Amino acid sequence: MHVEFVSITKTNKRDEEGRELTAEDLIVYQARVSNPSNQLNISTAPKLLAFCIRRRHWSVFDMADLCVEIKTSRAIAAQILRHHSFRFQEFSQRYALANSSEPIELRKPGETNRQSSEERLNNPRLDERVMSHIEHSFTLYEELVQQGASKETARFVLPLSTQTTLYMKGSVRSWVHYLMVREDAHAQKEHRAVANAVRPIMVKHFPHVMAAVDMILRARALAPVLAAKVKAVKDDRRNDEALLQFVLENVDDLVLAMES
Ligand SMILES: Cc1cc2nc3c(=O)[nH]c(=O)nc-3n(C[C@H](O)[C@H](O)[C@H](O)COP(=O)(O)OP(=O)(O)OC[C@H]3O[C@@H](n4cnc5c(N)ncnc54)[C@H](O)[C@@H]3O)c2cc1C
Repeated sequence: MHVEFVSITKTNKRDEEGRELTAEDLIVYQARVSNPSNQLNISTAPKLLAFCIRRRHWSVFDMADLCVEIKTSRAIAAQILRHHSFRFQEFSQRYALANSSEPIELRKPGETNRQSSEERLNNPRLDERVMSHIEHSFTLYEELVQQGASKETARFVLPLSTQTTLYMKGSVRSWVHYLMVREDAHAQKEHRAVANAVRPIMVKHFPHVMAAVDMILRARALAPVLAAKVKAVKDDRRNDEALLQFVLENVDDLVLAMES
């Protein structure tokens, strides 16, 4: 798996000191379209971006794009391609030879979530069989091509672990939501690795957007904790003090959670 920064929206606008606006500045500039005399006010950007996210004013985040290159398996690429708001270019196995497989980590099924898996299976014999199966698939594929089969038909014998390369381009709005679902514990581990590798690219180019997103996510995570404490108070009145303490300690984040 590999993720690399490719491109970002370039602006044709400059601030009062002549500095070119960044892609993140552009979001702020365009969010202030109705207030032209204040459009170049970038100093309050963090506050404005956080406000837009809290109020779900998502269209401003559609104004800047980011493109990354991703190397992953065909299995994870299929999940990535489901994010329909992005635009893609993918390595063509009809045109060029597939030549490598992503590593395969066998894991046990999740205990509560049938779709997920975290704990390694740790079965060297099965690992060996998997390796040999992958090698045989690639050997057969190469033989088929050598014997005159077209690449587009020979590829049907390749495993889902076959590596592919894709370019994924989308707006900051799409990237924020992509990270929210694919960095989450419910996403497949191999896909989480892709999202985790996109994060530093987003943080580098959209630091204020990501800081606002993270602040709101932290605040929202408090909601289930608060619900559990309220339930405990309902069940056992002696816990009132603990609830009050929790609310006092987290009052700012709880207000933020209620607002967003
Ligand atoms: C854990 C998990 C399990 C899944 N299981 C299945 C399965 O069993 N079968 C299956 O067919 N698919 C499954 N999927 C795929 C899923 O249903 C979506 O197709 C996929 O995540 C793409 O998301 P999207 O349609 O929101 O597209 P995106 O391109 O990510 O989003 C579309 C647009 O909506 C916006 N948007 C997204 N969320 C929000 C939000 N909260 N607020 C405002 N705007 C928003 C985005 O910014 C974008 O503009 C699963 C996904 C996950 C993460």
